[in-house]
Amino acid sequence: MTSDKTTVVKFGGTSLADAEQFRKVGRIVAADFTRRIVVVSAPGKRFPEDTKVTDLLIACYEAAVAGRDFSGAYKAVCQRFRDIIVGLGLDFSLDDELAALGDQLRRAPRRDYVVSRGEYFSARVMAEYLGFTFVDPAWCICFHENGKLDDAMTRRALAAALRPLKRAVVAGFYGADSLGNIHTFSRGGSDVTGSLVACAIDADRYENWTDVSGLMSADPRIVENPRIVDHMSYRELRTLSYMGASVLHSDAVLSASERDIPINIRNTNDPDNPGTLIGRKRPKGQQKHPVIGVAGRKGMSVIQVEKVMVSDGSGFSAIMLDILKKRQLPFEHCLTGIDSITLVIRSDLLAACKAELLSEIRAELAPDYMGIREKLSVIAVVGEKDTETSDANVRVLMALTQAGIEITTINQGAGKLNLLIGVPEEKYEAAIRAIYGTMQTL
Ligand code: ASP
Repeated sequence: MTSDKTTVVKFGGTSLADAEQFRKVGRIVAADFTRRIVVVSAPGKRFPEDTKVTDLLIACYEAAVAGRDFSGAYKAVCQRFRDIIVGLGLDFSLDDELAALGDQLRRAPRRDYVVSRGEYFSARVMAEYLGFTFVDPAWCICFHENGKLDDAMTRRALAAALRPLKRAVVAGFYGADSLGNIHTFSRGGSDVTGSLVACAIDADRYENWTDVSGLMSADPRIVENPRIVDHMSYRELRTLSYMGASVLHSDAVLSASERDIPINIRNTNDPDNPGTLIGRKRPKGQQKHPVIGVAGRKGMSVIQVEKVMVSDGSGFSAIMLDILKKRQLPFEHCLTGIDSITLVIRSDLLAACKAELLSEIRAELAPDYMGIREKLSVIAVVGEKDTETSDANVRVLMALTQAGIEITTINQGAGKLNLLIGVPEEKYEAAIRAIYGTMQTL
């Protein structure tokens, strides 16, 4: 059966860890004719104590630039790919290219080039195995020389490269600038490649294949067997990814949502499971739970500044935000009270400029009180079911109080449920468990 629909399928590292995983990918791609464009990560861990190929490459690079022996990690990379090629019974060799990587490491290694080779080799093997055309993103994912993605150019170049092809394998995670220098996205960036590809060719669906059967409603390291969410909106997913839910890179959500391309998170090891489907709106009848997920981040600090008459229109908040802007210090949340302003800022960013920042605030605003509280975490409770009639937010806060957890800040936007709650870092896990427990009763 033929179809002119296109599904972009991206496979993560665990889906490519060895030859057996490559075979599973082959079966998944063959099972649906619309799966024409395949995006791959570098091989990940085969077992818990194993090392991802990308981490081996980072180790190679770091040893090489420090003038240390990199041969152990380099040989391990070569062996991983040779084992996959042999395991798949391919009459194909990457030996020349692996040798070229060795030469680079010996001469003048460039970090992004070295680190990107895991995806490059993985895509070369996958293209050979599937009999698809290999597409090197160095030709069509375009970066500026400063390392920023050139979005418009990338869309045009990807469309031009992929539209004429019936079936292709694209290496994830990297692209190149106009001088041909390779640049990578941040870790987990093959998700971003998949999303850019799906947008550029206006795909009907973006499937992101991983090792879990969808997005979990809480971190499984904290909550035992959390519920898998069957449907969620882009906004819900973006908030949860930003706040630390680690299934999908948050930048990948942004580009897919702009074009309204549905994202389907699937499990390579359980391909019949429908996984989680993410779109602009959840289908009617699917809005069973007012809260669909909870996620959070540790390592936050709160600056609180008070001054009588802050809210009299004298521009106090604007000056405060201007001070942060001048220092290019981003803040996570900003809460204003009658005579106070509270800013939640990542502790690692604050640490670099704390003393100067406080003296600048003192000089510019002459506050009545100023204090910093550190070692906090922020938890996002997310759900787009209309909350006008729901008491979900109240119940979540009550659950924290009943568990004896101090609430340091609360931030609730209007409309949908998007509650951000600050709690002390040492209570983070207990807070997630308390909130998750309540979510099951809503
Ligand atoms: N291989 C890269 C990493 O480990 C990128 C990716 O897998 O998406 O972060």
